[in-house]
Amino acid sequence: MTEPLIYELSAAGRRGALLPAIDVPETALPAELLRDDLDLPEVSEMQVIRHFVKLSQMNHAIDKGFYPLGSCTMKYNPKFNEDMARLPGFALLHPLQDQDSVQGALALMYTLQTWLAEISGFKAVSLAPAAGAQGEFSGILMIRKYHQERGDTKRTKILVPNSAHGTNPATVTMAGFQAVELPSDANGDVDLAALRAACDDTVAGMMITVPSTLGLFEGHILDVIRAVHDCGGLMYMDGANMNALMGIVKPGELGFDVMHYNLHKTFSTPHGGGGPGSGPVAVGDKLKPYLPGPVVEIVEPASDEDDAPLYGLRMPEKSIGRMKAFYGNFGMHVRAYAYIRIHGADGLYNVSRHAVLNANYLRVKLRDTYRVPYDRICAHEFVVEGHFPDVENVHALDISKRLIDFGVHPPTNYFPLIVPEALMIEPTETEDKATLDNFVEVMKTIAAEAREHPDRLRSAPHTTPVSRLDEVRAAKQLVLCCRPIPEWAE
Ligand SMILES: *Cc1c(COP(=O)(O)O)cnc(C)c1O
Repeated sequence: MTEPLIYELSAAGRRGALLPAIDVPETALPAELLRDDLDLPEVSEMQVIRHFVKLSQMNHAIDKGFYPLGSCTMKYNPKFNEDMARLPGFALLHPLQDQDSVQGALALMYTLQTWLAEISGFKAVSLAPAAGAQGEFSGILMIRKYHQERGDTKRTKILVPNSAHGTNPATVTMAGFQAVELPSDANGDVDLAALRAACDDTVAGMMITVPSTLGLFEGHILDVIRAVHDCGGLMYMDGANMNALMGIVKPGELGFDVMHYNLHKTFSTPHGGGGPGSGPVAVGDKLKPYLPGPVVEIVEPASDEDDAPLYGLRMPEKSIGRMKAFYGNFGMHVRAYAYIRIHGADGLYNVSRHAVLNANYLRVKLRDTYRVPYDRICAHEFVVEGHFPDVENVHALDISKRLIDFGVHPPTNYFPLIVPEALMIEPTETEDKATLDNFVEVMKTIAAEAREHPDRLRSAPHTTPVSRLDEVRAAKQLVLCCRPIPEWAE
């Protein structure tokens, strides 16, 4: 870093805050609470502001630039959502308040449950899960309980295609099932012969990501659902990427038994870096009694048009239980409600149409420069190979690191595993044509550099405060310190 550290700006007597004159009797603090080794910098308010604004700009963010991180749906989060979530009537609620005093919040949750049921074509929704992966876990626990209650305990396997999101086999394993991997066919769809061979009375169900991590809508979806149902299994759809399907396909009507949403992807709201998530689960009649709770129900219908119903929180009859304390991430419910309300049905349909259009535009613009292994109409994302047959030792990682120099966040790397040197690109619907065209130009520039100046890629990024990090160590042993790294962390 060439910028001075905030400690270097310190000058005796500089102040950033003015405290009001003391209006209580002065007393000495107990000596054991005082320390003289607290070496804080003495800086002005403006220096502090500049320091933190500079720090915040060292990271990439959707508010700063294009962020085509496949599967993660890093679309622009309208600031309106934030205004709504910060309304004091929502933000200052206490989870232990009487239900009588939070009827507005319960009405919002009830309406959101209803809308999410409508959009997905399912009967009932629970907003309890706090992330996509937690929604998955809830769904598989429901499938487990459904079979257990029927005394059908020999079903120990869940089928998972090799184009599934990585959380799917992890969820299956955590729920105590054996994950059975299914191959994909040459088109990137589930290999139907392998599926039929795997279907028997030990199969509890199948977990399929739609659209798949190849960005493809499963071509034989109805055959897949039928095959699993015919052997007594239930169908789970990973709907984290419903941003490709809204207003176009209803998974409940296709025959799925359960799916989860990622509110923090499809319905905007900031995410990443472990920020708050929300992964509601939607189910049909079979699994409704098992939903995680609590769910919001109408306790007393409205007596007439001018009256509001009385809402209450209930645990479903045979619930798998709670997924987290209280009622899910309520602030995320408010943001998703605001997003759906602002878009309306036509607006959501257009979100999906444009997400799909943008991805296909990029796929076609890039396919002469980068190999697209499953080159057919895609959904909201597509996968290219990040290497070139005529260039040795330039990898997807080098292309990604070089993108940072052009102000673009890298696509998802090395996933899905079935594509060598995978770069998974999801432009999202919120980007305009100029941004997409600029990305195409940058990707072509990088492809040319790979041939002429491959070292420029291998040593990228060049424009960031630090270049290539030991990513494992950076995650496991993160040192958040603006002074030279202490000895213990070396
Ligand atoms: C993001 C994603 C998940 C996991 O969601 P989290 O909220 O990160 O737990 C699961 N499946 C798919 C397809 C996803 O894109």
